[in-house]
Amino acid sequence: MSKVELAKSAGFCFGVKRAIEMAYKQIENNEKTYSYGPLIHNKEVTGDLEKKGLAIIESLDTMKEGSVLVRSHGVGKEIYDALEEKGLQIVDGTCPFVKKIHMIVKEHHDLNKGVIIAGSSQHPEVIGINGWCENDAQMIETPEEAAALELQEGKKYILVVQTTFRRSRFDEIVEELKKKNIRLEVFNTICSATEERQAEAVSLSKKVDKMIVIGDKKSSNTQKLVEICRKNCKNTVHIETICDLVLNNFSKDDKIGITAGASTPPAIIKEVVVTMSEAFDNAVQNSGGSEEITFAQMLEDSLVTLHTGDFVKGTVIQVVNEEVSVNLGYKSDGVIPRGEFSSDPTVIPSKTVQPGDEIEVFVVRVNDGDGNVLLSKKRIEAQKGMEDIEVAYNEKSIVTGTVTEVVKGGLIAVVNGVRVFIPSSQVSNRFIEDLSVFKGQELDFNIIEMDRVKRRIIGGRKALVEKEISAKKATLFASIEAGTKVAGKVSRLTDFGAFVDLGGVDGLIHISEMSWGRITNPKEVLKEGQTVEVLVLDIDKEKGKISLSLKDSSMNPWNLAVEKYAVGTIVDGKVVRMVPFGAFVELEPGVDGLVHISQIANKHVVKPEDELKVGEVIRVKVLEVNTEQKKISLSKRQAEAPVEEVAAEEAVAEEVATEE
Ligand code: SF4
Repeated sequence: MSKVELAKSAGFCFGVKRAIEMAYKQIENNEKTYSYGPLIHNKEVTGDLEKKGLAIIESLDTMKEGSVLVRSHGVGKEIYDALEEKGLQIVDGTCPFVKKIHMIVKEHHDLNKGVIIAGSSQHPEVIGINGWCENDAQMIETPEEAAALELQEGKKYILVVQTTFRRSRFDEIVEELKKKNIRLEVFNTICSATEERQAEAVSLSKKVDKMIVIGDKKSSNTQKLVEICRKNCKNTVHIETICDLVLNNFSKDDKIGITAGASTPPAIIKEVVVTMSEAFDNAVQNSGGSEEITFAQMLEDSLVTLHTGDFVKGTVIQVVNEEVSVNLGYKSDGVIPRGEFSSDPTVIPSKTVQPGDEIEVFVVRVNDGDGNVLLSKKRIEAQKGMEDIEVAYNEKSIVTGTVTEVVKGGLIAVVNGVRVFIPSSQVSNRFIEDLSVFKGQELDFNIIEMDRVKRRIIGGRKALVEKEISAKKATLFASIEAGTKVAGKVSRLTDFGAFVDLGGVDGLIHISEMSWGRITNPKEVLKEGQTVEVLVLDIDKEKGKISLSLKDSSMNPWNLAVEKYAVGTIVDGKVVRMVPFGAFVELEPGVDGLVHISQIANKHVVKPEDELKVGEVIRVKVLEVNTEQKKISLSKRQAEAPVEEVAAEEAVAEEVATEE
């Protein structure tokens, strides 16, 4: 009994299927649409579409209105520009895999890299790709052409390949190019649909007596299939339709393999398979096993079935208005609305996925009302994220999340697509007034509470922060010494001083240690965030406290006080403070002297305030200087006394001294 085996990958690939569906949709909607070049290399299909109203154009010159359908091969950038300039609507049927090549070529061409395309320079796909590097690419088809290619030594080049190119030949081309003295980046852009079809053609043609390859004679991917099959099975025939098949060439006992190019419609394949099956025992054998099944069953098997709640893989077709269209191999495409893409609102779909990328999605509804499959990527993330979080909760391990929101009472951080609430009391080891500083930041924390059913997940980082600080403290305490200078950043100002971050641990500069002069508030000297060099005054390891000083000892005004304020000198000073027994007068920042109440005036003074006011500048005479105790005695009375009076007083004083 003859056996007929149909390759599972025979016929339309998803790129072609998609473009054809777009064409029929346009026709159904009565939209005046033109196809830029024939949609596929198949006269049957293009003929049917033309009959239904899809006119084929080869040039845009005469076009004034309507929509232009770009076929799956894609076109160069100049065509998009021309369409836009003419105000014509673009219906983009470019296969997402081809679109991806356009993007690679453009990106690298913009970076001044040379572009090499492995493929046929006459093929519309290659012509289109070349249009994304200003038609500047070098095109090669064989390893010999690669060897002969003239390239600039040391220059950066990229190599891309026509999606339907033969893998083995591409590998040979890569080997040849690697021998050249250039910096080459290789992008294997061969479409897996093509690879699969070709690989299946190899294995099928090896085990059958006769091979039938169905497809248009002009289709390059069909020609490649013929070439591959002929290598393994010399009885390979290439037909376009059943009409080309000479049944007499097949014998009753032949094992027959059938495959078809990417642009061969299912109806044509079916016709060939059914005819062959009826002619030979009416049986078709599935490629995988010995069980015989009907063609209808085989078609049924190849259809993807979907159910709500399924986790499936698909290929990104396009991202429009941040809505991602996904091919699932199902009769309708899937759509991920923006809100279902990620739990992290900062994630932008168009910057995350590109046409041609494979992604895993969750089926929310098989029909969203518009005939599309409603998908969610967010729920996949959440499902996986939830499992990771549960593990972290049980094992008390640390998770990392990005803070997306500041809410009443805390923060929301997203961990692998799952929202975790961090109460403000758990954000740090101390109260943080403005939590918005965390927005957009990545934080490490523990899961301290979890209720999967209520979806209540609480995170906490207080213990982590404390642990981190004590580790930092231990390191810092082991490395700093009193009397040394260290750099730090002012982390907080209070009325009594400033806290300085010395690398995860804060030290304190007391207000009295900020300046040699008199200050009333630390803000007069420092501001938060300022980097300062400070002197370590004291380290209390037990209490975990570090005392710091901003005062530079070389600037200590008391060092020069003896010379500057020699006994008998008359100087000006400002009254800064009153006490019952006199008034303190500032001679310069950091140097105060006391005018005793008896030295204020040449009369009896009851209270210093009766004669002086705080802030008043007065003239004083230096009576005594004690730098050790940082004390200077001053006299206003003597500074103001007439010269003779002072001289008399001094004479008396001298006499007394002599007598003594
Ligand atoms: S790249 Fe692949 S899926 Fe796309 S049109 Fe070509 S063969 Fe088909």
